[in-house]
Parts: sequence; C-alpha cells; structure tokens
Amino acid sequence: MVALTATMMIGEIIAGYLTGSMALLADGFHMATHAGALSVAAIAYSYAKRHASDCRFSFGTGKVGDLAGFASALVLAADALTSVLAIVALLSVRFLG
Ligand SMILES: [Zn+2]
Repeated sequence: MVALTATMMIGEIIAGYLTGSMALLADGFHMATHAGALSVAAIAYSYAKRHASDCRFSFGTGKVGDLAGFASALVLAADALTSVLAIVALLSVRFLG
C-alpha cells in the first residue's frame, strides 16, 4: 500500500510539473503526507510484531500501533494547520493588499 501511494505521488508530481497543473502538483505533495503516515504505521506494525514476545514490554506491544497512529495524526494536523495559514496569508495579500 505504501509503494502504491508513493508511486501515485511521484506520478502526480511529475505529471503536474510537466503539464503545469498546480492541482496535480498539490495533490502529489498531499500524497506525500499519506505515504509518510502509511510508512509510520507499517514500521510500527513491523516493530510490534518483531517484539511481540519481548519480555521488556511488560504489557505487550499492542500500544505501539496506537502511538504511531497518534504521531501520524499530529503530523497531519500540523500539515493541515500549515495549509490553513498559507491560505489565510494568500487571501490577506489578495484582499488587504
Ligand atoms: Zn488526503
């Protein structure tokens, strides 16, 4: 799933650059956030599975995936906030001079 998302991301960025389409380019970079979040989840799943019988994890590795999901959500929220700030800045330049 990560490879499919990354392939689409690269394809959209290349197609957006070659055709001058800002929409394709923006969606390609948006796909980068999805590829990043999916990568974090895949790494966490792999880590939890590898250390499932490790006695250092007193309560098991079940929370590793939850922590990865929480970290991904924070990164995506920061990304969304950055987009909102960019839109506000662009609109303020457009309408306030
Ligand atoms: Zn999305």
